Amino acid sequence: MRLLELRNINKSYKINDSQSFQVLKNINVSFDKGELVSIIGESGSGKSTIMNLIGGLDSQFDGELLVDGQNIGTFSEKELDCYRKDQIGFVFQNCNLIPHLSILDNVTIALTLSNVDKNERIEKATKALEQVGLAKHIHKKPNQLSGGQRQRVAIARALINDPEIILADEPTGALDSETTEQVLDIIQSIAQKGKLVIMVTHSEKVAAHSSRVIQILDGEIIKDTTQSVSDCSSTLENNIKQSTPKVSENLSFFSATKLAAHNMKQKLKRNILVALGVSIGIMSVVTMLALGNGIKSYFSNMIDSFMNPLVVEVSMEQATIDPNDPMSAMTAIGMKEPFKEENLKELSEIKGVKEVEKGFQYITMTPSNSISYGDTSCYLMGLTSMSSVLTEANLAEGKLPSAENEILLNQSVYDELGHDVLGQVVEVDALIDNQPIKGEFVVSGVYTAGDHNALADTNHSIYVNYSAIESLLAEQGHTLEPTMVYLVADDENTASQIKTTITDLGYGGSTQEMMGDQMLTMLNILTIVLAGIAGISLLVSSIMILVVLYISVVERTKEIGLLRAIGARSKDIKRIFVSEAFLIGITSGTIGLVTAYVVSIVVNYFSMQIFEMNVMNLTIPYCVVGVLLSTIVSMIAGLFPAQKAAKLDPVDSLRTE
Ligand code: ADP
Ligand code: MG
Repeated sequence: MRLLELRNINKSYKINDSQSFQVLKNINVSFDKGELVSIIGESGSGKSTIMNLIGGLDSQFDGELLVDGQNIGTFSEKELDCYRKDQIGFVFQNCNLIPHLSILDNVTIALTLSNVDKNERIEKATKALEQVGLAKHIHKKPNQLSGGQRQRVAIARALINDPEIILADEPTGALDSETTEQVLDIIQSIAQKGKLVIMVTHSEKVAAHSSRVIQILDGEIIKDTTQSVSDCSSTLENNIKQSTPKVSENLSFFSATKLAAHNMKQKLKRNILVALGVSIGIMSVVTMLALGNGIKSYFSNMIDSFMNPLVVEVSMEQATIDPNDPMSAMTAIGMKEPFKEENLKELSEIKGVKEVEKGFQYITMTPSNSISYGDTSCYLMGLTSMSSVLTEANLAEGKLPSAENEILLNQSVYDELGHDVLGQVVEVDALIDNQPIKGEFVVSGVYTAGDHNALADTNHSIYVNYSAIESLLAEQGHTLEPTMVYLVADDENTASQIKTTITDLGYGGSTQEMMGDQMLTMLNILTIVLAGIAGISLLVSSIMILVVLYISVVERTKEIGLLRAIGARSKDIKRIFVSEAFLIGITSGTIGLVTAYVVSIVVNYFSMQIFEMNVMNLTIPYCVVGVLLSTIVSMIAGLFPAQKAAKLDPVDSLRTE
């Protein structure tokens, strides 16, 4: 069995819909190990085309192309990739070294593609470079070498995977006569070691170095002569080693990322700019989320600070608050349906309820309620019954009412009436259930909602005993019906169970809680909208990634072609570009987070000064979301250029200038 056999090979290029051009016509030829074959012929006669077919770069042909008896025309994409990687070594006229990689890396790249371990890679590459006499130059970049040296690097690269067949397409075409000699010597010695070397050349002199010369004219072999060459073929037979089938691995994701990182270093400024762009998007999304979260937790705290955790407030109905009409919330709170006896009974029977307290909460915008102390008086917006909801913690001054006629003022009423009102008698005029009442009370203390709730301290409210109002109304023959009920529980768990039960029974929860829920819902919507708007900048930056990677694909077309020629699968190419996108994503995510963190510190510093609160709450989950988002968005944006790169035809890519 011959090592390489071409049987009835025909190949045409389609020029347009109706015309095609036949490049190769019925080629029948075979080759053995240890041969050094020169293919000569005029430019355009089809030499490179044959090489590309043999090299597995182009599988569009008719006929059979047998390597070790296997027809590579029937190979799958994957098998072809392996074939190129393991059995073929390519040397091109213009070296095609990757300019930004060192000599060593240029040679090891084929091993990197096979996921060979680093030490082994370096060892093999160093050996190959020694073979071509370049051991001293391994750390240089290609542009620091002469043309001949570069071509020797390309030969070392072709040898690295120990292929059976070396294809050299005009390897000396760009060299002067002296370096041509050096390169030819090396090529000759490769054949002597038992490889099949096929070399395309223009020069008769170069052809004279080979053991066989094949002449091509217009796609046909017109001459095939074997010639004896001086020192060739002596060591040939005994040096031929039994070829062992190789199973090589593929490019690992880690190596792809390293290659990508290397590529990106070349265009560092450009990549940093892109990463900055993306990071702005990430920063804004994370900032908005943190801001929403901060404000929400501020309000939650505020609402909680109203509450005694052991007391469950109940109102008659689950108030329906129309989000389009903010005043409906007020109306719902101000005019509540009273509880009936059976309701109170039902509530008292709920498991865990220790005590049922009757209460009311009147909130009015009209000046129907007022309080006066001596000559000063002020309107009351809130008139609320005392209950277990209020604890010592809610006292700014004085004590909780103990006698029936004692009341609490809130901070704003206290300020309005003057601070000497504490312990003094005040007069309250109010309209309750459409009944005007008038009564004298003693101020026992001042209510505060605590640090979290400036609002509750600024609207004019007082807290009166339920029984006091009840008896004032009774004097006029009117019965007070409770509009609020407070259920006292033993512990917080029971309290939250009770809360669920009352909702199931169809009662409404506490006023503050309802308003709070309403507010939180609105804040949630606002946060999402803000984050969404910020997300648009992310979209813009992802398009930027897309464009930059597209440009990169175009710039590196030749490099991609070369990588394919030395055995990179289209998957590997894709992987390299996706890795680049991944790196941009993770970098920008990190930059974005750091910026968001700095912003949060600054914003919180000022908000602390002004509102005494941290408006931004940057939590770990948001950071994770930020980096993930940035990585995913970048990788999605990178997918299209990567796909384009992966789909490039190796022969076409190599031909680009
Ligand atoms: P050479 O012997 O100079 O290496 P090639 O094998 O590169 O010649 O090309 C052989 C012929 O095929 C040329 O006439 C060239 O114009 C033609 N050819 C090569 N590639 C294509 C292509 N992609 N489409 C159409 N014609 C092509
Ligand atoms: Mg050519």
